[in-house]
Amino acid sequence: MASNTTIQWTEQTWNPTSGCDRISDGCTNCYALTMAKRLKGMGQAKYQNDGNPKTSGPGFGISVHPEAFLEPLRWKKPRRVFVNSMSDLFHSGIDTASLHLIFGVMAATPQHTYQILTKRHGRMRSLLNNPQFAHMVFHRAKMYGRPDTAARTWPLPNIHLGVSVENQKWANIRIKALAQTPAAVRFLSCEPLLGPVRLTRAHAHCPTHDFPGGFCSGPCPDLILPDWIIIGGESGPGARPFEPQWAADLIDDARLAGAAPFVKQLGSVWARANGASDSKGGKLEDWPAALRVREYPTTR
Ligand code: SF4
Repeated sequence: MASNTTIQWTEQTWNPTSGCDRISDGCTNCYALTMAKRLKGMGQAKYQNDGNPKTSGPGFGISVHPEAFLEPLRWKKPRRVFVNSMSDLFHSGIDTASLHLIFGVMAATPQHTYQILTKRHGRMRSLLNNPQFAHMVFHRAKMYGRPDTAARTWPLPNIHLGVSVENQKWANIRIKALAQTPAAVRFLSCEPLLGPVRLTRAHAHCPTHDFPGGFCSGPCPDLILPDWIIIGGESGPGARPFEPQWAADLIDDARLAGAAPFVKQLGSVWARANGASDSKGGKLEDWPAALRVREYPTTR
């Protein structure tokens, strides 16, 4: 199958919206922001709307693209689809009616697996816990040709939901929000990882239970462990340092939590310091053996 992306953990990108605003430390060198400026210069219609110069940039203003909504309906072969590589689906500038339609397309195409990654964990949690939102998604799915009875499983089994985690502060906040959101598969994108993150610490506030093996013995409603953990350093101009030990610790935590670890790259700073053949530090053969791990999640 032809792929339109070089992102190792997906097969296809789909951008029903574009544009965004920086919201946390991981956004500092946003690749999509730089790319949008380039695409605007090339005259691409999707990238002509400028965003706030303080938080966004040329061609990176929030834009909804109804003409792109229907693309997955035309893909016959099942594929793994990263939704919004050039935006954040839960950005407050994207109207809820458009989200009904976008989720409706995903519900109407169960042959595909959709990967949604966000830094707007609050809106994700509130929308996906709202029965009215689910009702509207089922309604839209029917409009797109999915039989009413077939689409009424919530959370949708073909949607994998993820949050970005760049440091321990955001791990503690976003992993909890992800656990409180209904999802068939939950994942973390710890990329660019900017400091050490331990899953065990993300639940260290639990006042009630002990921590055998490092994890709370629960049951706690906000301790639903992720199924998949993507780990990576930063690449490109201005890339910040990455320590292989951070990846090693997260691989250990993933094993303990029963999650699949996927190490994507070790970042430009590491690549330069270690004479790696790929400037992103993305070639497994250059890495310490213990970090050469690329696994995919199974539904629990
Ligand atoms: S949330 Fe994602 S797309 Fe938006 S500015 Fe941050 S890194 Fe870029």
